[in-house]
Amino acid sequence: MVLGLDVQNVTHRYAKMTAVADLSLQVNPAEIFAILGPNGSGKSTLFRLVSTLVGIQEGRIFVNGFDVQSETDRVREQLGVVFQSPSLDRKLTVMENMLCQSALVGLRGSEKTDRIQELVRSMGLQEKLHVRCEKLSGGQKRRVELAKGLLHKPKVLLLDEPSTGLDPASRLDLWHVLSELRRESGTTIVMTTHLLEEADKCDRVAILNQGSMVACGSPEQLRSEAGDMIVSISTHDPQSVARILIDRLHMEPTVFEQQVRVSHPSAVSQLPAIVEATKLLANSVSVGRPSLEDVFVAKTGHQFLVS
Ligand code: ADP
Ligand code: MG
Repeated sequence: MVLGLDVQNVTHRYAKMTAVADLSLQVNPAEIFAILGPNGSGKSTLFRLVSTLVGIQEGRIFVNGFDVQSETDRVREQLGVVFQSPSLDRKLTVMENMLCQSALVGLRGSEKTDRIQELVRSMGLQEKLHVRCEKLSGGQKRRVELAKGLLHKPKVLLLDEPSTGLDPASRLDLWHVLSELRRESGTTIVMTTHLLEEADKCDRVAILNQGSMVACGSPEQLRSEAGDMIVSISTHDPQSVARILIDRLHMEPTVFEQQVRVSHPSAVSQLPAIVEATKLLANSVSVGRPSLEDVFVAKTGHQFLVS
């Protein structure tokens, strides 16, 4: 039996539109795994399939060895899911929301109260237990959602865009909660995100583009695959700068907004030539390691746009 998450050749269409295209990926137990992709790349669809909300059209998915299609109940026991759209009842208190969820997952008596206490403590919600959810901050609400999703001690946690709408401090907070959860309970955590810096912190990342996987590996691995150091020129006239680099230095730059980037192995050694050739148009020229965004550009030939 393969533990963790095993997605095998999954394709999903909405009418004629292919949202997930022959996707295969494996997430190891106790891994924190990011599915990174711009909006519309099929992340939520994949989660709906894994969480048994939508029937599988093509391919197979296993959660801790249980088949999503034929062992739905077992799969649901394994899974905790926090979807993008908030699932809290705003008019109820934190405690009341937890009690409702407990009833849904069949927790009773002291097991129920103990579990709620434990989660409330680990999510830092002790003070908020009797506050209505509508009064909570974005980060606090997200932690209540998470606590709800964890009530039945799922072995695999799916989080759809957990950081969306959170300020940087709450994001950090959430990250801390997730790493503790993995450390203490060995929970497998799979999250979708369109935030490159969030994916960067995960053990491994699968990059999705239009329903297909374009890369998968540790952030380090992916960055080294994307090539050598990147030279980046910021300018008010990116088209002309790109032209100069192509014509005079025979480079293959990519342009995004006010930036021209070159990832050719010789880019760094040619830095003086680049500076010389572009000095009339460049505001600054910098050198850095490839980011996950560069990986995306390298693999798809287009920019990582989130909106
Ligand atoms: P993501 O979560 O990465 O933004 P989604 O899985 O929500 O991507 O969407 C993937 C593609 O499928 C998008 O083009 C989206 O418009 C389309 N899509 C998603 N849900 C539906 C639906 N219920 N009916 C029709 N098309 C959908
Ligand atoms: Mg989505």
